[in-house]
This record gives sequence, structure tokens and C-alpha cells, in this order.
Amino acid sequence: MSRIGLLGGTFDPPHWGHLWLAESARVQLGLDRVLFLPAGEPVHKLGKVITAVSHRLQMISLAIQDNPNFVLDTTDSTRPAPHTTVTLLPLLQEKYPDAAFWLLIGGDSLRDLPTWVEPARLITQCRLGVLPRPGATIAWETLETAVPGIKTAVDLLDGPTLSISATTIRAWIKDGHEATYLLPTAVSRYIQQNKLYTD
Ligand code: ATP
Repeated sequence: MSRIGLLGGTFDPPHWGHLWLAESARVQLGLDRVLFLPAGEPVHKLGKVITAVSHRLQMISLAIQDNPNFVLDTTDSTRPAPHTTVTLLPLLQEKYPDAAFWLLIGGDSLRDLPTWVEPARLITQCRLGVLPRPGATIAWETLETAVPGIKTAVDLLDGPTLSISATTIRAWIKDGHEATYLLPTAVSRYIQQNKLYTD
């Protein structure tokens, strides 16, 4: 049975925070690979302007190009909306029948998990690999009340944490800066060439 990490997100743009979450989970959970699963229309970001999925796919490809354990998977971005995680898992189970899954999320996503669609079912479909995120305190009691059993479904990742977010990178670029050292150089170049996040 292979062990697969699932890193879903908007990746607008992908940055070192995503890559460190994937790598820290790969090492600590002994994952064979991590699938990067960009969402087409993220449910919790409806109503917000999101960069075209074609750009986000290109940026993820550039971000993971040097790592054979990291794989771009378009299952979520090519299926019809709504793109909930609880409906994505059965599609991935079909595609990778011999796999055990860990959904890799930051501490902010764990905090928000009770607002996701069917969180109680989600934690029966996979385990959760969680990397704490600066500024997002994990309130276990509140979480356990909202989603009983969640604590035992979580593998909490150890080690360094990063406060980089896509929101602050977009704001930084909009202010006229380059995103050097916040994300891989190839992604920064792509952003400049395609004039993303400048307006
Ligand atoms: P935005 O600022 O646009 O909301 P984001 O930086 O949070 O974006 P997403 O693509 O929404 O990035 O995140 C996908 C997943 O990666 C989420 O579970 C999120 O918690 C996690 N993640 C992103 N950045 C980090 C980070 N610096 N540390 C830990 N987890 C992170």
C-alpha cells in the first residue's frame, strides 16, 4: 500500500509555505509522494477573484519540477463544481486504489475545518497531516466539539513553520516588488513574464 499526501489549495501563487508543508509531511509521515491538487473554484473562496487555473497549473509545475516525489494532479481542477474535499476523496480512491491518504493542511485550515462540507465524513476518508501556521492557534477542545474524533485523525507535524501566505505575496507584488525568496525563482520569473498580481 502506498502512502500519499494530498495538498489541495488555490496556489495563487504556490510558495515556500506549500512546498515546506509537503516536504515536512513527506519526511515525517513517510509518504511515497505528495499530490498537488489545485482547486478550480475553491468553495471557501467563491466571490473572490482568482487567477486563471491555467496560470496556477503552470506555476505549480514550475514549483515542483525538481522534486520527483511531488506530482501535479488535476482531478480537482478539471471536474465540475462544487469542489469540496469530501467529494474529491472518492475520486482519488478510485484513481489510486492501493493508497492510504493524508490530507495535508496548515493550522489555519484545521481551525476552519468545522465549516467545510461534511467534516465528520472527511475524517473517515483520510488522515490529516497538519503543519501549524503562525497566527493560527489550534483550539483542540473547540475542534473536538465541532467534529468529534478529529484529534485522533490528526498527525501533527513538527519542526519549523513559515508565515508566508499567497495573500501577502500578492499584496507585495501589487506594491511593485518582486517575490524573490518568497517562492521558487522559476515561479517568480513566470509571475513577472505574465504580469500577474500587478493590477
Ligand atoms: P491565501 O493567502 O490566498 O488564502 P494560502 O497561502 O493560504 O492562500 P492556499 O493555496 O489557500 O494558500 O493553501 C493551501 C493549503 O496550504 C492550506 O491548507 C493552507 O493552510 C496550507 N498552507 C499555505 N501556506 C502555508 C504555510 N505557510 N504554512 C502551513 N500551511 C500552509
